[in-house]
Amino acid sequence: MSRKMMDCRDFPSESKCTLTIAGEEDEVVRAAVLHAVDVHGHRDTPEFRKEIRKSIKPEPQPAARR
Ligand SMILES: [Zn+2]
Repeated sequence: MSRKMMDCRDFPSESKCTLTIAGEEDEVVRAAVLHAVDVHGHRDTPEFRKEIRKSIKPEPQPAARR
């Protein structure tokens, strides 16, 4: 299963957060929601989870590893 990543720099925020989270999609969504609630004051709603899921992208593959 390919890994996904979420880059907090993709989200406009006042804290200029630079966090990236990488892992399997469900793991990334879960961690990203917790992070957004904790650090950015978002509310954990099904809509917000959908937004997060849309914004994560495939993790760039390191060239040396297949
Ligand atoms: Zn953040």
